Amino acid sequence: MQQATDLNLATSDQLFTRAKDLIPGGVNSPVRAFRAVGGHPVFMKSAQGAWLTDVDGNRYLDFINSWGPMILGHAPQIVLEAVQRALPDSLSFGAPTRREVEMAELICDMVPSVEKVRLVNSGTEATMSAIRVARGYTGRDKILKFEGCYHGHGDSFLISAGSGALTLGTPDSPGVTESVAKDTLTVPYNDLGAVEQAITANPNQIAAIILEPVVGNIGLVPPADGYLQGLRELCTKHGIVFIFDEVMTGFRLARGGAQELFGIQPDMTTLGKIIGGGMPVGAYGGRAEIMDQVAPAGKVYQAGTLSGNPIATAAGMAQLRYLNEHPEVYEQLERTSARLAEGTYEIAAELGLNYTVNRVGSMWSVFFTQQPVTDLASAKTSDLEAFGRYFRAMLNRGVYLAPSQFEALFVSTAVTDDLVDFYLSACRESMREAH
Ligand code: PLP
Repeated sequence: MQQATDLNLATSDQLFTRAKDLIPGGVNSPVRAFRAVGGHPVFMKSAQGAWLTDVDGNRYLDFINSWGPMILGHAPQIVLEAVQRALPDSLSFGAPTRREVEMAELICDMVPSVEKVRLVNSGTEATMSAIRVARGYTGRDKILKFEGCYHGHGDSFLISAGSGALTLGTPDSPGVTESVAKDTLTVPYNDLGAVEQAITANPNQIAAIILEPVVGNIGLVPPADGYLQGLRELCTKHGIVFIFDEVMTGFRLARGGAQELFGIQPDMTTLGKIIGGGMPVGAYGGRAEIMDQVAPAGKVYQAGTLSGNPIATAAGMAQLRYLNEHPEVYEQLERTSARLAEGTYEIAAELGLNYTVNRVGSMWSVFFTQQPVTDLASAKTSDLEAFGRYFRAMLNRGVYLAPSQFEALFVSTAVTDDLVDFYLSACRESMREAH
C-alpha cells in the first residue's frame, strides 16, 4: 500500500496557535475546526477552479466549495468581472439600487413559488426572518423542525441542530432560553407519522414547519418517496406555513432548487450560499400574501444596514444568471457526481465495507456505516474513528473533504473527468489506510 507522507503545514500551525489566543477555538465558524478528525485546520491562501492552495503552498482538490456557494468552482471569471465592474460605483449606499430589483426578478423567475423576496446577509438571517414572518402571518408561536436539520444559528433552531453543533456534541446550545426552546418542536426526519402526532398534540399552535428538503447537515439524506408531498398536505390541511430551507439546495440541485426537483410548492423559501456567488448574501421569500406582512409593507419587522449590498448582489447575480442561462451545468454536475459517488461505493465494497453512499445531484456523503442512512439516528451509527482516519489520509493526498461525518460534500463544475480519476485513486489508497 502506498503511504502518503504528512504535509508540511508549518505556517498553518503557526497561524492556528496565534488564532487560538484571539478567536474562540481559533476559527470564525466551528465547522472549520478539525475537532472531529484530529489535527489543526488548514489555513487557505487562494483558490482557482477546483483547487485550494494553503498558506504553506499545498494544493487540495476541493469538495467543500465554501460549504456550497462555489458551484462554478473558485474565482470564476464571470463573477470576478461583475465585482470589478461594480466596485467603482462604491461599496454601499444604504439606499435601493437597480441591481436589487434585477436580483429579485431573477430569483422569482427561477423559483416560481417565490412571488416576493427580501435580501439579507446570510442564511441564518433568512431563516430567522422567515419564521418571524410565519408567526406574524398565522398568529401562532410554535415551529416544527427536524432532528439534525441545521437552519443557521438563530436561537429557535439550535435545538437538535445538525452541522457543527452536532459534530461538537452541542445540538442543544447553552444560551438558548427555555422559553424560546419550548416553542421549537422536533421530530425525526422522514417520519410523517411523527409530524402528524406533533400537530395533533399542539392543535392550532404551529406557525411553520421548516425543513431542509434534502438534508445536508447530518451528511446527505434524501427525502423518502412521498415524504415532502405528505408534509405539504399536512401544512395545507392545518394552516401551517411550509418553509423549505434551500440555503444549501437552492440553485444547486436544479435551476429552481429542491422544490423544482421534487415538484413541491412550499409557502416560503430561504436561500443563501450560491445566491451570493461567494459573498455574504441570503434571501427569504414566498407567497406575496405572506411576504406582504414584512415591514414596511406590513408590520413584521426585519431590516439590514448592508442588505442588498451592491458588490455582493453583483457577484450573486452574475452566478445566478450563468446558472439560469446554462441548464447544461446541472447535467454536467449530475454526471460528475455520479462517477464520484458510485466510484467511492465500489471502492468501499471491494474492501468488503459496503458503506452507505447517499447522493442527490451534486450533494453527497459517504457514511462509514452499512446501515441505510435516512435520519439522524442512522447517521449516528457511522464509525467516526474510521472516518477521521480517512479524512486525514485524503488530506495528505491533496483532497479536501468536510472535516466531519455529519456534513455533505459539494461538487463544482470545475471537477473534470481527470480530477474524478485523481479523487478515486486517492480514495482507494485512503480507504485501505483507514481500515
Ligand atoms: N440553512 C441551511 C440549510 C444551512 O446549511 C445553513 C448553513 O450551512 C444555514 C441555513 C445558515 O446559513 P449561514 O451560515 O449563511 O448563516
